[in-house]
Amino acid sequence: MGENNITERMEEKGVKPTSNRILIMKTLIKEARPMSLSDIEETLPTMDKSSIFRVLSLFLKNDIVHSFEDGRGIINYELCTQKGICNNSEAHIHFYCKLCHKSFCMKDIPMHDIELPQGFIPHSASFVIKGLCPECAGR
Ligand SMILES: [Zn+2]
Ligand SMILES: [Zn+2]
Ligand SMILES: [Zn+2]
Repeated sequence: MGENNITERMEEKGVKPTSNRILIMKTLIKEARPMSLSDIEETLPTMDKSSIFRVLSLFLKNDIVHSFEDGRGIINYELCTQKGICNNSEAHIHFYCKLCHKSFCMKDIPMHDIELPQGFIPHSASFVIKGLCPECAGR
């Protein structure tokens, strides 16, 4: 995704593109995997943690990113793949590696519709499988 696409994507979601916001979105695109606040902080040492957190909170509110808890209970952020308002249909299973602490998206594993008993209204769901990633398992 080029710079123009980034600003376009943000505007579609109702967020004004500022330099910090563009930088954080670029980082998430470049890493191409879910990142925690401290992962992003390490990648962008020039930005302070509270600024990063503010941008991520805004991104969450406007469906630019989605969040889930990894195998440690730490919030990870990943880019929403839908344009404009998101209906969360791209929810998928995550795999957490206990050794390198990375989260991986298992987007190709189908997740069947989960039917909840009457009266329960889901807002988010988190499915995390813990174990070793191929790289760590091969060590
Ligand atoms: Zn989405
Ligand atoms: Zn690993
Ligand atoms: Zn994911």
